[in-house]
Amino acid sequence: MLIGDGLKGTDEVLVPVEDGEYVKEAKIGHAIMDADILISLTHFKGHELTGFGGALKNIGMGCGSRAGKMEMHSSGKPHVSHEQCVGCGMCTKICAHSAIP
Ligand code: SF4
Repeated sequence: MLIGDGLKGTDEVLVPVEDGEYVKEAKIGHAIMDADILISLTHFKGHELTGFGGALKNIGMGCGSRAGKMEMHSSGKPHVSHEQCVGCGMCTKICAHSAIP
């Protein structure tokens, strides 16, 4: 077994993403980039952001280094469109953690 981004999670390669809308430079585990082949033994499960987790999600997110995974998981923040918000306050009522003041 091999840890893709090394024992400390810092062994990564910066891979340019041509025309990337969200990611311009992906942080991928160095051992993944050095591998000749990749075999994915995927299980199928529900996932909050992608709907279903499978080979594409597991490889796409799983091959990221620690920093790459942190970027992927922190980019899904809520965003309020000020043009569309009518100020009804529903979002403050339904947030399970009272995160919206
Ligand atoms: S729930 Fe209401 S207040 Fe919250 S973002 Fe949507 S329109 Fe705006």
